[in-house]
Amino acid sequence: MADVQMADAETFAFQAEINQLLSLIINTFYSNKEIFLRELISNSSDALDKIRYEGLTDKSKLDGQPELFIRLVPDKTNKTLSIIDSGIGMTKADLVNNLGTIARSGTKEFMEALQAGADVSMIGQFGVGFYSAYLVAEKVIVTTKHNDDEQYIWESQAGGSFTVTRDVSGEQLGRGTKITLFLKEDQLEYLEERRIKDLVKKHSEFISYPIYLWTEKTTEKEISDDEDEDEGKKEAEGEVEEVDEDKEDKKGKKKKIKEVSHEWQLINKQKPIWLRKPEEITKEEYAAFYKSLTNDWEEHLAVKHFSVEGQLEFKAILFVPKRAPFDLFDTRKKNNNIKLYVRRVFIMDNCEELIPEYLGFVKGVVDSDDLPLNISREMLQQNKILKVIRKNLVKKCIEMFNEIAENKEDYNKFYEAFSKNLKLGIHEDSQNRTKLADLLRYHSTKSGDEVTSLKDYVTRMKEGQKDIYYITGESKKAVENSPFLERLKKKGYEVLYMVDAIDEYAVGQLKEYDGKKLVSATKEGLKLDEETEEEKKKKEEKIKSFENLCKTIKDILGDKVEKVVVSDRIVDSPCCLVTGEYGWTANMERIMKAQALRDNSMGSYMSSKKTMEINPDNGIMEELRKRAEAEKNDKSVKDLTMLLFETALLTSGFSLDDPNTFAARIHRMLKLGLSIDEGEAAGDDADMPPLEEGVAEESKMEEVD
Ligand code: ADP
Repeated sequence: MADVQMADAETFAFQAEINQLLSLIINTFYSNKEIFLRELISNSSDALDKIRYEGLTDKSKLDGQPELFIRLVPDKTNKTLSIIDSGIGMTKADLVNNLGTIARSGTKEFMEALQAGADVSMIGQFGVGFYSAYLVAEKVIVTTKHNDDEQYIWESQAGGSFTVTRDVSGEQLGRGTKITLFLKEDQLEYLEERRIKDLVKKHSEFISYPIYLWTEKTTEKEISDDEDEDEGKKEAEGEVEEVDEDKEDKKGKKKKIKEVSHEWQLINKQKPIWLRKPEEITKEEYAAFYKSLTNDWEEHLAVKHFSVEGQLEFKAILFVPKRAPFDLFDTRKKNNNIKLYVRRVFIMDNCEELIPEYLGFVKGVVDSDDLPLNISREMLQQNKILKVIRKNLVKKCIEMFNEIAENKEDYNKFYEAFSKNLKLGIHEDSQNRTKLADLLRYHSTKSGDEVTSLKDYVTRMKEGQKDIYYITGESKKAVENSPFLERLKKKGYEVLYMVDAIDEYAVGQLKEYDGKKLVSATKEGLKLDEETEEEKKKKEEKIKSFENLCKTIKDILGDKVEKVVVSDRIVDSPCCLVTGEYGWTANMERIMKAQALRDNSMGSYMSSKKTMEINPDNGIMEELRKRAEAEKNDKSVKDLTMLLFETALLTSGFSLDDPNTFAARIHRMLKLGLSIDEGEAAGDDADMPPLEEGVAEESKMEEVD
C-alpha cells in the first residue's frame, strides 16, 4: 500500500509563517495540550454544518454518506487517535491551501500572542486550530473525500513540508474527513476512553452532531466444554481470552471467559441548550455552551437567553465576550457571530441581515420556527421575518448592555472593549441612537478619575445651563488644560472629554441628548448665557476697542484664518483658534491627516476653517493693541502675531505645518530674553529662517513676557 501511495506523492513546503507556528507548537512546553481535541471536533462540526446546508437545497449532495456524525477511534496497538467526520471533506486543492500553503491572517497574530504569554488554548480564535494536532502528535495523516474530487491523503511530521497523495488504499470514507494522530510517547493518555469522554464533556458537549466513541466492552460469559472448539477459533482472532476455569466444577464442563466487543458509544447530549428553560440552566452550563460556540478560553461577560412568541416565534441566546477579538474591525472577516438555525437545523453563521455590523461582537444562536428550511442567501435579504428577528435582537442586545451597566466593574471592561461599537451604532443606527447614547461614558471636567454618563451629566447641569458641552481631542491630557475650557470652567459648566477618534463622528450624528444640544467648546458660536444690558454694553465697547487690532491681525495672517474676533470663551490665554460650527474640528483634521490613504489634494479645501478668537482681557493682547495703534507697521506686531498664531495652533489642538520656523522664532525670543547679541550668535544658526519680515527690535520684544 505504502509503495503505491508513494508513487504519486507530491511534496509541498509549509508557508513560512505556518512553519514557524508549527515549530512553536512543537518545541514550546504547553500544559494545556488537551485543547487539540476540541479544535479538531470543532472543525468537524463546521464541516458537517457546511454539507448539511448544501444538502438542504440539493439532497443528492448527501448521497456519499447520508448520516452526519463525528467518530473518535483510539487505537492502542498503533498508538493513534482518529477523528472521523462525514462533513463536507476537502478537495485536493483545499488540502493544499487550507492545511499548509496559505497563511491565515491570524497566524502571525497568534504567534505574537503566544510569545506575549497567551495560552495555547486561544488557537481556535485565530483560525489556525488544525495545527494544534501537533501538540500531541508527531505525525498527522488527513484522509478526506469531497463530493467534487477523489479521496486524498495529506501527511506530515511537520519539519517544513507535507505530502498529498491520491488515496488508492481502498478504504472508502464516502464523504468527509479522517484525521489520524500518531501520538507522541508521552501523550498516550488520549487513548484512554475515560480521558476522551471527559474531554468531550468538558469542551465539546454542545456540538450539535452525535459524537461517537469506539469503545471496548468486556463481558464475562460462561461456556460449556462443547463450545470450547469454537472458542478456540475466536481466541485465534484475539477476541476472546480465557480468564478462569472453574476448578471446583467437578465435571469440568463449564468455564468462564471474557469476551471483548466493540461498539460506538454516543458521548454527547445534543439537545440544544436554547430549547431549555432559562431558569433551569446554570451559569456553568451557559459558560460551557459559550466556550464551545466561540472557541473562547474565557467565560462570557453577559448572557441573554430569551424566546419571542406570538405571530413569529424564535429562541435565542446572546453573549457578550469579555474582550474584543484581535480582528474586531477587520473588514475581511465575517460580519457577525450569530448562528442561525431553522427548527434546530444549522443554516449559516454569517447572515448579514441578522444583526447590524456594529453589534458584530455579540455572539450567539437564533433558532427560528418560521423560516423555511431551504432558505437561500438571496431569500434572506428580502425576508420580512428576518427583519423582525433583527429588530428584536438589537433590542435585546441593548437590554443586555444596560444589565452589564448595573455592575461598574463589568461595565468598565465592556466599555473598554466595545465602546467603539456603541459609537459606531450611534453613527449608523438612527432608530436606536437615543438608547445607545445612554450607554456612553466620558471623562469630564468634573468626573475626576471616574467616567460619567450623559444622564448623570444632565443631573449636574447648572441653573441656566441649556447645552451639554464637550471638547474633542487626542487624549484626556491634551484637552484637560485647553484654553477653550477656561470660561466654561469658570462658570462651573461641566465639559465632556471626547478623546476617541470615533467620538467626532458619533457626536456629529447624535447632536442632542434629552432635549439638550451637544455643543463643542472648540467651535464657533459658543453662546454661554444670556447677557444683561450692562454686560452687553461692556462687551460691545471691548469689541470696538479691539476692532482695529482684529483687522491688523487678519491682515498679517492672511489666508491662515477666516476671521479674527473678540472672544467670549477664554479667560487666561491670549487667544485660540476655533473652527466653523459645521466644519472639521482640529481633532478631525488630525484624524484625517493620519489616514494613510487620504487623497492629498483634499487637505487644502477640506481642512478646518479657523477663526482666531482673541482675549481682550489678556495683557499680551492689550499691549499688542497699543503698539498696533501707535505704529501701524510696527515689525514687532507682526512677529508677535505670528508667534501667537502658532502657539494657538498648538494649544487648540492643531499641528504646525512648519515646526522649524516656529522653533526659530522661539529661539530668537530666548536670545532676546537672555540678552544675547544677534550678531554674536549669528554664527551658530546661520541657516535659521528670518522672522516674519525682519528682526524684532530688542527693546520692544523684551516688554512682552
Ligand atoms: P479554522 O477552522 O479556524 O478555519 P483551521 O486551521 O482549524 O482553521 O482549519 C483550516 C481549514 O481547513 C478550515 O477552514 C477548513 O476549510 C479546513 N478543514 C479543517 N478541518 C476540516 C475538516 N474536518 N473537514 C473539512 N475541512 C476541514
